[in-house]
Amino acid sequence: MRALVYHEPGEVSWQNVPDPQVSEPCDAVVRIDAVSICRADLRIMRGAVAEVDPGRILGHEAVGTVARAGPGVAGLGVGDRVVISAVTACGRCGPCLAGRRGQCLDGGWLLGRRIDGVQAEFVRVPYADTSAHLLPRRVADDTALLLSDLLPTAYEIGVLGGRVEPGASVVVVGCGAFGLAAIATAKLRSPALIVAIDKNPARLESARRLGVDLAVHPSLQCAADVVAAAGGIGADTVIKAVDVPDAFELCTRLVRPGGRIADISAHGRPAMLFPEEDRHVPPMTVAAGLVDAVSIPALLGLAAAGRFDAGAFITHRFDLDEMLKAYELASRPRETGASKVALFRSG
Ligand SMILES: [Zn+2]
Ligand SMILES: [Zn+2]
Repeated sequence: MRALVYHEPGEVSWQNVPDPQVSEPCDAVVRIDAVSICRADLRIMRGAVAEVDPGRILGHEAVGTVARAGPGVAGLGVGDRVVISAVTACGRCGPCLAGRRGQCLDGGWLLGRRIDGVQAEFVRVPYADTSAHLLPRRVADDTALLLSDLLPTAYEIGVLGGRVEPGASVVVVGCGAFGLAAIATAKLRSPALIVAIDKNPARLESARRLGVDLAVHPSLQCAADVVAAAGGIGADTVIKAVDVPDAFELCTRLVRPGGRIADISAHGRPAMLFPEEDRHVPPMTVAAGLVDAVSIPALLGLAAAGRFDAGAFITHRFDLDEMLKAYELASRPRETGASKVALFRSG
């Protein structure tokens, strides 16, 4: 089969590799129908994720069809359409039973990091019963792709971690795919005010299309304006969806005393520097961490009800064989306007 293989920082190739096999009873081999490129893949490609070995097939966001299932797979069969979770979970260990699947003792973020990932024609999915979800026919591949990582991360870490509640005020800093996902999933909790902040006018426009109340450029005046819009004391929740170092400081200026900052950005450099000033930083709670992806069934139900528009997130579409072209485009978002880049099996 063909697969996207990482070699060294800056170097990946789309090449022939051996087909994956069922090697454990609970494995399934899934034929990839659609796959997306994540900011985490781009960080790996740049060499920023040290644990990724040369030769690793990348990718953790995909939709596919079960091609083979091991004898221990009970809930899925050959021919079933599934969305593959970015988080592999055994479903039986202490963290899994506590709902902390991201911390699974034999799982977590494995695909495209510690084991071969989904940017290929086929992938081996360990613990398939608890690491892939059956897709209803009415959820299209492009919408289902958002459920592997993007929407669960924005919802679990950003919205639930940031404790967005009905009537609350929410600011989303950074309107790339994850920021937009934070806006879409924050709306599920009926906040009274959503403010989007980004330097890129096209991204602000995307945020407006998702129905934010205010979309602003992060100028000097911005913090004061946003705080004024949020009742004069700042927002209940600020969701940080951009990994530039000074973004966290901006978040601390936007949140109300006692409010919450939820960080859904991809790190790789110091991300939480508190401002050094001659006053005390007001009390605030900071939420961050790897997604558990336990919200996939709930988000899948909303997707089936037509609550998520894939076109709001996916800016570019390619055939699976155009993987390198897609990576090239996704790695230059400023010039290309890329947000979520998705690839689809042809034929
Ligand atoms: Zn991802
Ligand atoms: Zn587990």
